[in-house]
Amino acid sequence: MQTRKKHMISKNQEISVSIVDYTREGEGIGKWEGVPFFIKDTVIGDQVEAVVTKVKKNYGYARLKKVLSPSADRIEAPCPVARQCGGCRIQQMAYDKQVAFKRSQVINCLERIGGFESLEGITEEALGMDHPWHYRNKAQYPVGYDRQGNIIAGFYAGRTHHIIPNEDCLIQAKGNDRILRVILDHMENHHIPPYDEKTGRGLVRHIYTRIGFATGQIMVCLVLKGQAEEFEDLGGLTDQLAGIPGMTSIIVNVNKEKTNRILGDSCLTVWGKDEIEDEIGGVRFLIGPRSFYQVNPVQTRVLYSKALEYAGLTGGETVWDLYCGIGTISLFLARRAGKVTGVEIVPEAIHDARRNARLNHIDNVEFHVGKAEEVAPVLCEDQGGKPDVIVVDPPRKGCDRTLLDTILSLRPDRVVYVSCDPGTLARDLRILCQDSYHLDKVAVVDQFCHSCHVEAVTLLERVSRQKADS
Ligand code: SAH
Repeated sequence: MQTRKKHMISKNQEISVSIVDYTREGEGIGKWEGVPFFIKDTVIGDQVEAVVTKVKKNYGYARLKKVLSPSADRIEAPCPVARQCGGCRIQQMAYDKQVAFKRSQVINCLERIGGFESLEGITEEALGMDHPWHYRNKAQYPVGYDRQGNIIAGFYAGRTHHIIPNEDCLIQAKGNDRILRVILDHMENHHIPPYDEKTGRGLVRHIYTRIGFATGQIMVCLVLKGQAEEFEDLGGLTDQLAGIPGMTSIIVNVNKEKTNRILGDSCLTVWGKDEIEDEIGGVRFLIGPRSFYQVNPVQTRVLYSKALEYAGLTGGETVWDLYCGIGTISLFLARRAGKVTGVEIVPEAIHDARRNARLNHIDNVEFHVGKAEEVAPVLCEDQGGKPDVIVVDPPRKGCDRTLLDTILSLRPDRVVYVSCDPGTLARDLRILCQDSYHLDKVAVVDQFCHSCHVEAVTLLERVSRQKADS
């Protein structure tokens, strides 16, 4: 019996395609005999030769072999390991095109999923970075051996735990290379073995650094498979690290589990303070090894300033900041509001939020632990009235439907929706803007340059009752 083949393309076949579009993960899309192929490391406008790696029913994947004719939007990726490393996905795309790509993703989602029209007029120019390099304040380097038996630190290759050595990552804060060198040399000199995920043997799992960009304070955290005592001459290492300008906190974290989770449960400060401090837009934050904190402080300021602008505060408003994390947006808005109430599901984050409020002498904020969708209906009763403005900044899965219903029944004047996923943003705005709210403004802020993460802020204005009823 003869089976009819869907299409005549097989694995390892070479194809030559023009890249015409992108997936949400930033892979280029090109068609071969009518079948779309997803090809990483390509740019719209490229003509490429690629090797088929996977064929599915209606689409396939291919690996870039050669750029036959480069797109005008293509640049030479500045990082020598950009293709192997799982960190950056779109370094080969000129930065202004990256930002435009993210902006168009938000517009596309809002049109396709949200049912909105004519968005060009209300969508601001995307807010990218002037210098989209060395922007991250937090790095977690896995440690291992290379083939020659040298101790290395770097980042995992895409979708594997194979370590691509890189001590001088272009998106990490400057200065990490020096910290890594001190630690890796110490490990070599004292024969301290890196941890091996496969066998479960070895000691040093990760080197984790955090840097306060505004204060210059540095935290180094060594994540070990065993106790601090097992790390030979830890005192000698901390003496050396302490000599690095800005060093504020050196911590040993113990993680004995076979897990992908980086940090274990116990933290021991072996030198200096338990926390570092940073500042965003005049608000100070204490950051411990476990604290949630935005990784791009320069763009976080841009993002929160947009949220503040959209909130339209005049000084007396009651504001709710739902999904507030450590209260960053709450504290940022508090200076211009009558009162801000933050709600967050993680108790440790609320603990940090309250401490940060005290640290900044901000007393017109309060924080509640719980699910936004469960706390919001009760809050209204407790506070004896509805808020003027609600800010939401949910995780990627977006807002719970019951929370959207609560917002619709409370009818605050404005809703500021901060989103890290344009798809769920569009789904939720469709519900909110059915008849009670009008989508007024959209801004896209590039928080994660060279990756495909998209962050957007949107402003919804309440439609006046008259208008809504007509
Ligand atoms: N607004 C904060 C954090 C946003 S991240 C900032 O800018 O720093 C989203 C937050 O929502 C996380 O802290 C997560 O723990 C929290 N979260 C997730 N589900 C939640 C829920 N159902 N209710 C309240 N908070 C939730």
